Amino acid sequence: MPTVQRSSDVIEAHSERAVMAGIAGVIVLAIGLVLFVFRGDGMFTVLAMLLLAGGAGALIYAGYCALQVRKVTNYDIVCPYCSTKVSLLTAPDRDVSCRSCLRMIPIVDGKPISVTQVRCGYCNALNYYSDKTIALLCEECNHEIPISRVDGQTSHSKFAVVDDDKTYELRMIAFEHATDDLIAALQHTLALNRNQVKQMLEELPVTLLTGIPRKKAEMLTAQLSSHGASCQYLPLN
Ligand SMILES: [Zn+2]
Ligand SMILES: [Zn+2]
Repeated sequence: MPTVQRSSDVIEAHSERAVMAGIAGVIVLAIGLVLFVFRGDGMFTVLAMLLLAGGAGALIYAGYCALQVRKVTNYDIVCPYCSTKVSLLTAPDRDVSCRSCLRMIPIVDGKPISVTQVRCGYCNALNYYSDKTIALLCEECNHEIPISRVDGQTSHSKFAVVDDDKTYELRMIAFEHATDDLIAALQHTLALNRNQVKQMLEELPVTLLTGIPRKKAEMLTAQLSSHGASCQYLPLN
């Protein structure tokens, strides 16, 4: 299934087409007019007519594309982390990345679920988790933050068993398909844009992150493998 489309992306595509067709239409019309004015003994009349018709057609198409912009549906959700509005075409059926804070917005039944704030016990940075969070690693210092659950149990990451002080390099070796999910996950993890991620996927193996703790490397390996990518992490020191 494709990622939920953003209204802004669709509007951009329609507008781009409208502008291109509009410019082409004006140019072709202008050439047609010039030819028509200087048609001489009629040898260019047919060509001038064709150009005029083509130009008019392009302008009509441009108008049609511009109209499509107004038909774009909007389903607004608000990022629970940074309160930025995210406009989608339809209700999302999966987590959506926020382009403002680059976090994944947890979605349940088409709506973002609320997130809970928690301070990191090591560096006091503000972190967030939702009911969908399995394990929470501090965004600043990568230490694991224990999160309390409704049932009173404290959830610990299954990756938190081994704690060493080495840092690791995370490399991506291969992937099955460059799915939207994989690209979105990489975008989120590496804070890159879509094109940068696609470019990166063409140059495997590639180093994704370096100098990260083992827990983070393990977590990302597991996360990316769920999207069909195989990763490898090696100690740096
Ligand atoms: Zn956000
Ligand atoms: Zn921290």
